[in-house]
Amino acid sequence: MKEIVILGGGYAGLRALKFLQGSKGGFHITLVDRNDYHYEATDLHEVAAGTQPAEKILYPIEDVVDPDVTTFVQASVEKIDRDKQEVSLDNGETLSYDYVIVALGFRSESFGISGVDENSLPMVDVKTAIAVHDHIVSQMEDYKETHNPDDLKIVVCGAGFTGIELLGALNENRASFAEIAGVAPERIEIYVVEAVTRLLPMMPEELADYGVAKLESWGIKFLTGKPIKAIKPQTVVYQTNAETGDTDELTANTIIWTTGVSGSKVIDESGFSARRGRMMVDSDLRDPEYRNVYLVGDCSAVMDPESNRPYPTTAQISLVMGELAAKNILAQLSGRETGDFTYDSLGTVASIGNTSAFGILGNGKSVKGYLASALKKIIMDKSLMETGGSKELFAKGRFDLYH
Ligand code: NAD
Repeated sequence: MKEIVILGGGYAGLRALKFLQGSKGGFHITLVDRNDYHYEATDLHEVAAGTQPAEKILYPIEDVVDPDVTTFVQASVEKIDRDKQEVSLDNGETLSYDYVIVALGFRSESFGISGVDENSLPMVDVKTAIAVHDHIVSQMEDYKETHNPDDLKIVVCGAGFTGIELLGALNENRASFAEIAGVAPERIEIYVVEAVTRLLPMMPEELADYGVAKLESWGIKFLTGKPIKAIKPQTVVYQTNAETGDTDELTANTIIWTTGVSGSKVIDESGFSARRGRMMVDSDLRDPEYRNVYLVGDCSAVMDPESNRPYPTTAQISLVMGELAAKNILAQLSGRETGDFTYDSLGTVASIGNTSAFGILGNGKSVKGYLASALKKIIMDKSLMETGGSKELFAKGRFDLYH
């Protein structure tokens, strides 16, 4: 009996699990995750802003585990020893494998900027997203005592997809924050500080401008072309002049860090040759040196032959990678050739609040507004169906397409 170990129960890990469980025979699977639940990482901004409760974006891993084939171990992975074919866990256990799928996901990237870890809030998993929301609510409550306008200020650092979607959701909940603080909604100030001036470079400029204009029309304040140099307590320090290095400061009692992600720290700590926790894999998703090690999702980088750059890290791509890793292990087990990664995008859509969004479809066409928002929900429901099955789709799916 061959042993397949899947590390991580995110999009890629669970997709691989589902696929392998559907083709029983000759192997046992061990799935490891630090949590006993899977969460829709694409919805974390909604939990952080309070527009969705955390329960809506997660479901028990147990629901997708077939106990006849799979053992689920709730623990954190500490190290992968590719020579010994072993994985060490924080509970002292060591797992041996014949094949391993490393799907350990992402963490927040501070780029070594001083004060980020101490003075800003990450939004990388359910716990940190809940912490962001709790923090905002507590500032709003404080305002009633302090009347300090900084209690009403929220600064998002970085206007990538994550930052933009978070801004939309924060705006959506502006009235509820204002009610807690006992002020008019326009008194809640929402800022974003961003290093570059051309936002969302993977989208046509006209579409990125549309998203920004929409957010600005709702009162979000954009400080673009302003690289953040430090985060001091309740203060964002950003550069105003690249030549002189002059800086300015923005004070706020809520500072959220969304300037990008890197792959799990386990990748670096296990000696994989990776950049920012992402390892360049072969086109069949294998470690070039270890033919029984697959890396998928946010800790994996696979080349897009068209752009000659690695594919971005997205949930859709993670799902495709998870399935291919599973297929390739089955191929190895039966002595067949492994297949190469190919990807047809369904589209890339950024939501800005519950009823508005913008993005590009797989065929390159732009979508905006309600239609884009509905499409985004359909894309997310598809991924929920693929990992969680119909039970999770009916419990957690987004069917509010038109309001
Ligand atoms: P990102 O790297 O895409 O964006 C980070 C942003 O922060 C960039 O605009 C960057 O210029 C800015 N930044 C970096 N350092 C800065 C600094 N010192 N000061 C100010 N600004 C700074 O990261 P992300 O938004 O977290 O997205 C991560 C990945 O997840 C991407 O591949 C993205 O496409 C994907 N994603 C997709 C969706 C979607 O499809 N709807 C949603 C969220 C994330």
